[in-house]
Amino acid sequence: MTFAEEIPSVRVRAPGKINVYLEVGALQDDGYHELATAFQAVSLYEDVVATMADTFSLTVTGADGVDLDGVPTDDRNLALKAALLLADATGYEGGVHLDIHKQVPVAGGMGGGSADAAAALLACDALWDTRLTHQELHRLAAQLGADVPFALKGGTAVGTGRGDVLNPALARGRFDWVLVTSEEGVSTPKVYGELDLHRERHKVDIGPVAQTPSVDVEVLHALRAGDADMLAASLRNDLQVATLRLRPDLAAVLELGEASGALAGIVSGSGPTLAFLCASPEHALELSTDLQRAGHASLHVHGPVPGARIVG
Ligand code: ATP
Repeated sequence: MTFAEEIPSVRVRAPGKINVYLEVGALQDDGYHELATAFQAVSLYEDVVATMADTFSLTVTGADGVDLDGVPTDDRNLALKAALLLADATGYEGGVHLDIHKQVPVAGGMGGGSADAAAALLACDALWDTRLTHQELHRLAAQLGADVPFALKGGTAVGTGRGDVLNPALARGRFDWVLVTSEEGVSTPKVYGELDLHRERHKVDIGPVAQTPSVDVEVLHALRAGDADMLAASLRNDLQVATLRLRPDLAAVLELGEASGALAGIVSGSGPTLAFLCASPEHALELSTDLQRAGHASLHVHGPVPGARIVG
C-alpha cells in the first residue's frame, strides 16, 4: 500500500491496575457502595488500534494465556461503548474500527475492560481530531465505569466515591509484583453480593461498616517512601473475603506465595488474580519461577506506570 492509500489509524496503550488498598463502605439504598481505594497502574497492557471507518466495528485478540471467551465483540464491549459515547458527545458522524489486543486477564480484577475503554477514548479523540480536554475525557470516562478514569490517568492515585473521584498520590521508586492469573474470571457484581451476604451474616463480629471509607495514611506513607515492606504491611482488600468464598482454592495459592518469600499477597480488586508484592525485581523473578514450577500461571510486573498514551 502506498502512503497516499494508507487508512489513518492511532495506537494507544493502557495499563491494568492493582488496588493496593480497597475499603468498601456499607451497602447503600441504590445498591452501590462507597469505596476508598489506592490504585497502582502496572506494566501489563492493553493495546487498542483505532482505524478510520464509516461504521463501528471491533476485533479482539489476546496474548498467550488470555482467555477471550467472556469478551463481547458487539456494542456491549466497553471499548466500543467508549467510541460511541465520544461520537455522541462531540457530534462526530463517522465510525471507527477498533482492534484490541489484550494482555490483562479477562474478569480478573485488574480493570482490563476499563483500560480498553480508556484507550479507545484517547485513540478516537486523536483519530477524529475531536480534541477534548483532559477534564472532558475524564468526565466521559467516569460515565463508562468507575475504573476508567484511573486507566486514563495511570500512576498511583486515590479513588473515592465509586472509585472514580481521583486524586493523584505521591509515589517514589518502583514496586515489583508477581501476578497469579486464573483460567476462569469472577463476576464483580457477584463478589459484591457475596460481601454483602458475609457482612450480614457476621455483623456482630465485623461491627459497623463505614458509610464513607477512607484510605489509611500508612498506605500513602509507604507509597510516598517507595517502601515495599511498609506497603506489604498495609495492603488491604475488603473484597478478598468474598472472592475467597467464591474461589476457596485461591487461599492455598496465597499461602504458597507468602511461604515462598513474597512480602505479602492480596486478591487484586474483585479477583481472581492474586498479586504478590516482592522486595526486588530479582526476588519477583524467583517467586514467579517457583510458582510456575508449582503449576500456577504467573507474571512479573512492576508499577507505577503511566496511564493511557498514544504509542503510534
Ligand atoms: P471490573 O472492572 O468489573 O473489576 P475486571 O477487571 O474484573 O472488571 P474485565 O476484564 O474488565 O474484568 O471485564 C469484566 C466484564 O466486562 C467481562 O466479563 C465482560 O463481560 C465485560 N467486558 C466488556 N468490555 C470488555 C472488554 N473490552 N474486555 C473485557 N471484558 C469486557
